[in-house]
Amino acid sequence: MRLVNNLYAYVWRGNDNNCNSYLIADTLKNNGHLLVDPGHITTPFYREPGLAELVRGMETDGIDARQIGLIILTHSHTDHCEAARLITKQSGALVALNKADEGFYERLGGKVDMYLEEGDLVLGEENQLRLSIFHSPGHSPGHITVYWPGQKVLIAGDVIFYQSTGRVDLPGGSAEALKQSIQRLSELDIEYLLCGHPYGHPGIIEGKEAVRQNFDFVKSNVFAYL
Ligand SMILES: [Zn+2]
Repeated sequence: MRLVNNLYAYVWRGNDNNCNSYLIADTLKNNGHLLVDPGHITTPFYREPGLAELVRGMETDGIDARQIGLIILTHSHTDHCEAARLITKQSGALVALNKADEGFYERLGGKVDMYLEEGDLVLGEENQLRLSIFHSPGHSPGHITVYWPGQKVLIAGDVIFYQSTGRVDLPGGSAEALKQSIQRLSELDIEYLLCGHPYGHPGIIEGKEAVRQNFDFVKSNVFAYL
């Protein structure tokens, strides 16, 4: 589904756990696409075809998965990154991840081509896509979030959801780090807050006021329980 400009959202609609995927189309060299968090190939419990669903959604939007040139992983939990190695095989896409999450990804059989550090990430033929990468640990040590200032979009992965946050009880998790990450991100100018899962809500929070309310809700009602 096209969200704004050349940004597409693929909200997971299955019964099993899987992540939402986001794509910025025709923005890399040779009209390549940037994909964030491809999710599962097949979900672990109900065996739902996560990757096939994602590719079908892209085809509906006229987007060829073989044109994916770069996959950004917000972090290396399987429900975000499992499909990356298959997409890479079929498209030749590179995979980008923060170094602190590399070990887990390698144990899943993946290979990182490019490390994502805090700072600007400029992509495309004419450098037309300017993103800011934020190191946003807490859910995982190397979790990053992707801010697109040009469209006021934040791809938040598993840092913050609709009225909830990512878990902090997984290996390398930290409640204090997650709170600090959320506090920092809440200071950005955001029109579209794109969450990593459709928990009780599609996970696309639209409009500056709704985004602010969601940050406020999480700080007032969720922080105390982390
Ligand atoms: Zn996760």
